Amino acid sequence: MVSHADVVVVGGGASGMMAALTAAERGRSVLLLERMDQPGRKLRITGKGRCNLTNTAPLRDFLMHVGSDSRFLRNAFGRFFNEELMQFFEQRGVPLTVERGLRVFPSSGKAQDIFMALILDLEAHSNVTIRKGCRVKRILTAESSACGVELENGEQIAAHSVVMATGGRSYPLTGSTGDGYAMLREVGHTIVPTVPSLVPLIIDENLPSETVGFTLKNATLRVCDASGRKLYEGFGELSFEEDALCGPLVLSASRVVSRLLHAGQTLTAHIDMKPAIEDKTLDKRLINDLNANGNRLLDDALRLWMPAEMVPLFKQQLKLDYTKKLHQVSGVERRRLLQTLKGSTFTVTATRGYEEAIVTQGGVALSEVEPKSMRSRKLSSLYIIGELLDLDADTGGYNLQIAFSTGVAAGQNC
Ligand SMILES: Cc1cc2nc3c(=O)[nH]c(=O)nc-3n(C[C@H](O)[C@H](O)[C@H](O)COP(=O)(O)OP(=O)(O)OC[C@H]3O[C@@H](n4cnc5c(N)ncnc54)[C@H](O)[C@@H]3O)c2cc1C
Repeated sequence: MVSHADVVVVGGGASGMMAALTAAERGRSVLLLERMDQPGRKLRITGKGRCNLTNTAPLRDFLMHVGSDSRFLRNAFGRFFNEELMQFFEQRGVPLTVERGLRVFPSSGKAQDIFMALILDLEAHSNVTIRKGCRVKRILTAESSACGVELENGEQIAAHSVVMATGGRSYPLTGSTGDGYAMLREVGHTIVPTVPSLVPLIIDENLPSETVGFTLKNATLRVCDASGRKLYEGFGELSFEEDALCGPLVLSASRVVSRLLHAGQTLTAHIDMKPAIEDKTLDKRLINDLNANGNRLLDDALRLWMPAEMVPLFKQQLKLDYTKKLHQVSGVERRRLLQTLKGSTFTVTATRGYEEAIVTQGGVALSEVEPKSMRSRKLSSLYIIGELLDLDADTGGYNLQIAFSTGVAAGQNC
């Protein structure tokens, strides 16, 4: 059993496997420690099992999906970015396909192929040892340097460099339960409080069973605070669960509002079902429809303006006498119909938990990590990479690129 190595990598996720491989290619002896029975559990379920490994957007656009801290990544991306990542997998026999939104997937549609490329390469290196079912409990230090790790069973392993790659807290069943935060706090790092992100938003309203499970396409979602200030606005697809809004648009919104919700704020979500039609034009259309179908029941006519699954929700939002005929609908009522089509309103009280969050927001303060090498500014010989860092991005392949690029940076420097 290996009791010392040049480099100990803690965590066999996307970032840890990449760091281990990069260090091994430089001739370092590498010990990869993974608490689960297999590394890469999360990687294998990414992108609904298809793994959206990166995005071909140019650097500037890419960084906009990361947010205000994205400049931290400029150096790492400068050396290993989307093109290098794609080349990396293609050279290892994994053909890739660019899909809608510049998202990159393995052409096979199997996340497993991405995992296999990494694990086979690691296994092919005689200077790499992988220990599974091996949970690290503590970082060992000597003076101001990391000098190894201690396992849950008390065993100590010495190392010249320790790379922390234990991920965030999301999807804890994959092994990412936030262990790294406590270990890094213990050696002096600041942990920006974490919240679940890319996660459904819980609402106060109980949605009608007909609407639950329905996906509304081409809608606009706006989320505002109690004073009416707009926090998020986006266009796309969202869906409804019994007590929550979900789908791509809602996940994006959650990145902006999760922290506020976890601080106890209540927010308001507005859904515009007709974002492409201006009020005036929509009003004209309503007038035409009311005139042309005067004897039709309002209840029945709602389907002229929205998918059938949305009708019960619309009626829940707007209390009207739906037994009326269209010629009986007053100007005020028409105005209210229009307002509800352009903005059904929901009270957002919380997010779902880490079990359903694609990423964790918060983590190791970026000011305490050197952006070029991912080296800790608190302890020399300690490196921190991947989702453990206070970095997160939109859906679209951005998060895995962060994991891979920070992994390469640490692997090149440890
Ligand atoms: C369902 C889902 C789908 C996703 N899809 C995509 C996608 O398509 N595209 C994209 O860009 N991003 C996606 N993401 C996000 C992306 O998977 C993560 O951002 C990325 O995996 C983070 O990599 P990581 O190496 O930092 O951490 P992780 O992949 O979480 O790996 C951390 C590893 O460390 C191990 N570990 C933890 N504690 C210890 C310990 N004490 N000792 C030893 N080992 C430990 C864990 O078991 C785990 O294997 C998805 C996330 C989820 C949950």
